[in-house]
Amino acid sequence: MEKKVCKEHVEIALDIIVDETGEYPLLEELSTSGQVTCEFCDVDATYVVSSKK
Ligand SMILES: [Zn+2]
Repeated sequence: MEKKVCKEHVEIALDIIVDETGEYPLLEELSTSGQVTCEFCDVDATYVVSSKK
């Protein structure tokens, strides 16, 4: 599972993945900006939050 999000929505994405996987997810900064949109709004995504599995 992976969610690409803006700074505003990082915490929401973390919460969702913790809820669904029971584990703390990985948080990485997106190297390519301006190509991906946040899952929760229309801003460019800044981070990738992903589960380890
Ligand atoms: Zn957002």
